[in-house]
Amino acid sequence: MTLIFRKPLPNVEHPEMPADVVIVGGGPAGMACALRLSQLIDDHNARHPESPLSKENIYVLEKAREAGQHCLSGALLDPRSLKELLPGFESEAPLDAVVHKDAVYFLTRTGHYQLPITPPPLRDHGNYVISINRFVKWLAGKVEAAGITIFTGFAGSELLYEGNRVTGVRTDDKGVDKQNQQKSNFEPGYDIKAKVVVLAEGTRGSLTKQLIQKFDLMKDRNPQTYGVGVKELWEVPSGRIQAGEVIYTMGYPLTTKEYGGAWIYGSQNPGSKDNIVSLGFVTGLDYRDPRLDPQHVLQTFKQHPLITKLLAGGKMIRYGAKALPYGGWWSLPPLAGDGWMIIGDSAGFLNSARLKGIHLAIKSGMLAAETAFEALLKSDSSSATLGKFQRSVETSWIKNELWPVRNFHQGFKNGMVAGVFNAALQEIFRGGPRNRVPSHAGHENLQPLANLPADGGPEAHMLGPAKGDGKLTFDKLTDLYHSGTKHEEDQPAHLLIQDTNICNERCVKEFGSPCQNFCPANVYEMVDDETAPNGKRISLNPTNCVHCKTCDIQDPYQIITWVPPEGGGGPNYDGM
Ligand SMILES: Cc1cc2nc3c(=O)[nH]c(=O)nc-3n(C[C@H](O)[C@H](O)[C@H](O)COP(=O)(O)OP(=O)(O)OC[C@H]3O[C@@H](n4cnc5c(N)ncnc54)[C@H](O)[C@@H]3O)c2cc1C
Ligand code: SF4
Repeated sequence: MTLIFRKPLPNVEHPEMPADVVIVGGGPAGMACALRLSQLIDDHNARHPESPLSKENIYVLEKAREAGQHCLSGALLDPRSLKELLPGFESEAPLDAVVHKDAVYFLTRTGHYQLPITPPPLRDHGNYVISINRFVKWLAGKVEAAGITIFTGFAGSELLYEGNRVTGVRTDDKGVDKQNQQKSNFEPGYDIKAKVVVLAEGTRGSLTKQLIQKFDLMKDRNPQTYGVGVKELWEVPSGRIQAGEVIYTMGYPLTTKEYGGAWIYGSQNPGSKDNIVSLGFVTGLDYRDPRLDPQHVLQTFKQHPLITKLLAGGKMIRYGAKALPYGGWWSLPPLAGDGWMIIGDSAGFLNSARLKGIHLAIKSGMLAAETAFEALLKSDSSSATLGKFQRSVETSWIKNELWPVRNFHQGFKNGMVAGVFNAALQEIFRGGPRNRVPSHAGHENLQPLANLPADGGPEAHMLGPAKGDGKLTFDKLTDLYHSGTKHEEDQPAHLLIQDTNICNERCVKEFGSPCQNFCPANVYEMVDDETAPNGKRISLNPTNCVHCKTCDIQDPYQIITWVPPEGGGGPNYDGM
C-alpha cells in the first residue's frame, strides 16, 4: 500500500482575509500575547479617542476544536508573569492548589532516598498546581471577552511571503481525502494577510520549523534539544498525597546514561474526596538505545514500590504526551524579523532546570504584544520595529532567569553523575565558568543496533512495547484511548516521510525502526510485507497521533516532518 502524504493541492484559489496581527497557536504564549495587545489598544483608545486602533483584525488560530484541548503540561504555574498580565488573577483563575510541600527523591530499582534539601530550582512553595487545559480555556474566555477572535479548528499550514518578508498565514484545507483529492465538502484554506505574524505553536512548531529552515535561523546557535513527557492523570484514594504536594524523582528507571526524571503533583477535584495525581516522566530525547520507549519508561516507573504504593486502588483517567524544548538560552533562534516574531516554546523559552515554561511563554507573549502594538501605531512591521522584541527579551527577567541555567542541559552530556555535579557548579557560579557550552542535536546520540547488547543490557526494562496489567500499567493503545484522540479518518497522512525506502531498507536494519518505540501513540508500525527488502514495510495510523512532535525531532535520519492534520483533529486533553 502506498502512503499518501498531505501536501498543498494545486490550482486552488485561497480566499484572502486582511489582518493586523495573526497569532498562530492558542496556548499560554498566544493567549497572553492577544490579551496584552488588547490591553494596550484599550489603553491607547482611552487616551486617544480621536485615533482609535481596532481589535477586529487581530486573530488567534488554534488547531484544536476547543482552546486548551491540545495543551499538555505538568503543570505547576510560577505566577510571576500572570501577576503582571492580570493582577488579582487569584480570585478567578482555575488554580487547583497552592504548593506547600516539595521533595526530590533519588530512586534505585527498589529503594528511594530523599535529598536532604530540595535543590533551589525545584523549590515550588507558592506556585500553583493547575490543569493547563482549564487554564488556557480560562485565558481564551478573557481573550474573546476582550473582543479578539479565536478561530478554533484552524491550523496554520503555510507561511506566506513576499520576498523575504512574512506577509501572512495560510490555514489548512478542509475536506481532502486520503488520496489528497478534494471531497464534496472541500473548503480551501484562507490566506490571512497580516502585518504581523506571531508564531506561538509550542514545541517544534511546524510553521516555525519552515521559517527556521528558510532563513537558516539556527546557524550560529546551539541546536535545540528536547525531552518528551508522557503523562497520566490518576484518581487515588484520599490521604495518599496532599493537594499542593510536589515530588520530583531522579534515577530509576533511567540508568546513568539517560537524561530525565518524573514529576508527581497532588491536587483535588472540587466536591470529591479522592486526590488527583498528575504523574509523568520526561525522557530526554538524547538517549542512545533506539529501542527505548518513553511510554514504557513511565510504565516501569509506576512499578517502583514508592509509586505503586501511591497509586494502589486508584484509577488512571487521562493520558497524553508532548515534547518540550530543553536547549535554553543558547538554543533560542533570532526572535523577530520582517513581519514575524516567535514566542513561547516555539522559540524555546523553557527553564529545563525547573521544568517550567508557562510563565516564560506568558511573558514572551506579553513582550511580543508590546512590540506588535508599536508596529501597528507606526504602521511599520519591518525588522527595524519587530527586532525590538529581541531587545526587550534581553533586558527582561526572562534573560535573568535563563542566563544562569544557560549550560544546564549541556552539563548532562556525559551522563547523570557529571550532570548533577555540573548543575551544582552552575548554581554556584550562575551558569558555570564557561560562557557557552556547545551542544549537538539529541537524535545524533542514537546508536545502531549493532553497537548495543542484543538483550538490552542495563536498559532492558525500558525497551520495546510495554505490556501492561490493565490496572497499574498499560500498553500504548490502552493509554492512547484515555487521550480522547480523534481525527477525520479520510484524510492524507500528516506525518510526511521524505523517503520511505530509508525506513524499509536502512532504518529497519540499522536502528530497528525506532519510530515504533518513541511514538507514544502507536502511529508507526512496521508490517510484514514479503515484497519489502527486509520483509517489513512502514505503515502509519495517523489518526492515533497526539501531536507530541517526537517523531519530527527524534528520527535518526531526520526524514519525518509533522504537519498539522485537518484542523479540529487531535487529542482531547480535557482536565490535563
Ligand atoms: C510534559 C510536560 C510537562 C511540563 N510541566 C510544566 C510545569 O509543570 N510548569 C511549567 O511552567 N511548564 C511546564 N511545561 C512547559 C509548558 O507546558 C510550556 O512551556 C508551555 O505550555 C508553552 O506554552 P506555548 O503557548 O508556547 O505552547 P503550547 O502550550 O504548546 O501551546 C501551543 C498551542 O498552539 C497550537 N498550535 C500548534 N501549532 C499550530 C498551528 N500550526 N496552527 C494552529 N495552532 C497550532 C497547539 O494546538 C497549542 O494549543 C511542561 C511541558 C511538558 C511537555
Ligand atoms: S506520530 Fe509523531 S507527533 Fe504523532 S504521536 Fe507519534 S511521535 Fe507524536
